[in-house]
Amino acid sequence: MDIAVRREPIEGERRVAATPASTAQYLKNGLTVTIERSAGLAAGYADADYEAAGATLVDAIDLSGVDVLAHVRPLDGATIASLPSGAVTVGFGSPASELEGVAAFAAHGVTAFSLELIPRISRAQSMDALTSQSLIAGYRCVLEAGMRFPRFFPLYMTAAGTIPPARVLVLGAGVAGLQAIATAKRLGAKVSAYDVRSASADEVRSMGGTFIHLDLDAAADAAGGYAKELAADRADRQRELLAPHVADADVIITTAAIPGRPAPRLITASMLQGMKSGSVIVDLAAETGGNVEGAVAGEDARVEVSGGFVTIVGMKDAPSTMAFDASRLLAQNIANLIGLMTVEGVIAPDFDDEVIAGACLAHAGEVRHEPTAAAIA
Ligand code: NAD
Repeated sequence: MDIAVRREPIEGERRVAATPASTAQYLKNGLTVTIERSAGLAAGYADADYEAAGATLVDAIDLSGVDVLAHVRPLDGATIASLPSGAVTVGFGSPASELEGVAAFAAHGVTAFSLELIPRISRAQSMDALTSQSLIAGYRCVLEAGMRFPRFFPLYMTAAGTIPPARVLVLGAGVAGLQAIATAKRLGAKVSAYDVRSASADEVRSMGGTFIHLDLDAAADAAGGYAKELAADRADRQRELLAPHVADADVIITTAAIPGRPAPRLITASMLQGMKSGSVIVDLAAETGGNVEGAVAGEDARVEVSGGFVTIVGMKDAPSTMAFDASRLLAQNIANLIGLMTVEGVIAPDFDDEVIAGACLAHAGEVRHEPTAAAIA
């Protein structure tokens, strides 16, 4: 069977769903690979390298003949409708927001696997694309902050005087937040962090950050290691307790998210007024509503404060900004999931396997992911 990979059609998306290295892995498993010419160029992978790895290059993928389509962004309706019944797709499916696409998979008899649905269990770590892409995003947020921050991150003791280290606050200490902590520490900043999940305190400390405890009655841990949305009164209390920490910070990285829900609002316009001029906030959640009031995805917003302004960076397509390594990890995640389903060169998903069943969005004309099926009904 053949794995087909197109150039990602969405503007601004630089990643690619297969690399020369993952191509070699497919071939080793008895599969073949067809790559649309220049599919990897924006990520830094040349056509010649795919060819050298054993892929067939074509000017355009003939969707009607696809066995397996590996992709990065959710597929559009026209693409899904062009696939033959029985085709398999593997990539990000955004099941919470792409209900029409999910329904189209079922309507056209396509078997779709969504990387967001891979269970966060040890056995599936090598397929966990949310983790690999969050790692990139968390690292990148700190670099974006550093480029806009008019001061050093580390302590400098020079003949001309001592420069104190920057105080970095990370809000939301999941995969991206922990990487942000580690990156800011490496740059020499003084890092503190907060998360609503109780388990995150030890993880923050293990990265070298100081954990901020807020007196919020109880933590908000939900199933699968995720956080629960806070009730309105607790969210108000959280912002009230966070305000002095926000005012104290020079750089803030916000990464708080609740799967399938808008991003929680952690910093309001009035909290921004307590910040020092020159401070920088990078909001990784800008695309899903924003942790910070006034954040605009893909833009820098300047908010006037006493003595100058605070910059709010609305992150957009964060993993795509480091497309080479983001693709390297993502393509490997996809190849590992496909590898789990490959038996002697044939894709044969075993739906008794919890990773395969968990990642399946649609199969044999049905939406298999129950919350999405309920949302469509
Ligand atoms: P995420 O992107 O869904 O959310 C980011 C962080 O925001 C989370 O830590 C969450 O607790 C936090 N958050 C949500 N609401 C908040 C609020 N109001 N205030 C402050 N923080 C808030 O999370 P993620 O990075 O995908 O990680 C989710 C969980 O999955 C974590 O527990 C992580 O350790 C776990 N995980 C497990 C595995 C594995 O076992 N294979 C792999 C990766 C992640």
